[in-house]
Amino acid sequence: MINLPSVFRFAPSPNGQLHLGHAYSALLNYQLAMEAGGRFLVRVEDIDQTRCTPELERAMLRDLAWLGLKWEEPVRRQSMHFGEFAKALQSLEALGLTYRSQLSRGDVRRIVEAHEKTGKAWPRDPDGAPLFPGQTHELDAADADNNFAIRLKTQAAIEHIGGPFEWQELVFGGTDKMIESDPKKWGDVVLARRDTPTSYHLSVVVDDAIQGVSHIVRGSDLYEATGMHILLQKLLGLPKPLYHHHALILGENGQKLSKSKNGTSIAQLRQAGATPNEIRQMVGL
Ligand code: GLU
Repeated sequence: MINLPSVFRFAPSPNGQLHLGHAYSALLNYQLAMEAGGRFLVRVEDIDQTRCTPELERAMLRDLAWLGLKWEEPVRRQSMHFGEFAKALQSLEALGLTYRSQLSRGDVRRIVEAHEKTGKAWPRDPDGAPLFPGQTHELDAADADNNFAIRLKTQAAIEHIGGPFEWQELVFGGTDKMIESDPKKWGDVVLARRDTPTSYHLSVVVDDAIQGVSHIVRGSDLYEATGMHILLQKLLGLPKPLYHHHALILGENGQKLSKSKNGTSIAQLRQAGATPNEIRQMVGL
């Protein structure tokens, strides 16, 4: 058997300034890649072209370089690969596992509220968002001019491909675990929208496969999302990487750091005189 090098990646979205949480994730990936004698990639996840800007991308790469990271060039920018995501989407469509829906977030909210008024809870996904109510009607040609989303028929997809939906979670300094997941928890996720021809879930699995990523090291906020990624990998016939979900760096209030809130951005810390080494210490590396 050929022993392929380990491939790690840090895959931020340039929709705000990188903060200490990103620094930790990027530095950890880099350190693990170097220890393994492997490769380290940076991928720009900019499918949301309204929130991601070239300026934010430049600032992000500047922060990463300042931290001392070195990555392979050219970086993969997702917005330049919509065609590859479309191909993956077509193969799911060909399996009959997708549908078009026109319900807006507001429509869903109204359906959920009406249901909850009857005293019954509406199921929610692991991020707390209400599960999509499902296909209410087939869209005709006139509808297709309006805003629509292409969604996965998750239950049908699970039945089509069959479980288990498990992955190997690396435990550094301990015993790795096999994690059994249930992609149904996410309901009918969005695969593409009219204005964004892909989605986070779809593009992340396609890109990790295209780039030969062998180790996905990312925050524990994406732990549950991995279940959906395993389902999509199986449906698309993609290899399954190893995973490690690391603890999140929390703010003083115990809350998850946010790109939009100030105070812990790498740029601000640098301007305030912090050195890359001090940042490493601040995140416990
Ligand atoms: N782009 C995602 C984010 O910034 C991370 C994707 C991933 O690591 O799988 O949260």
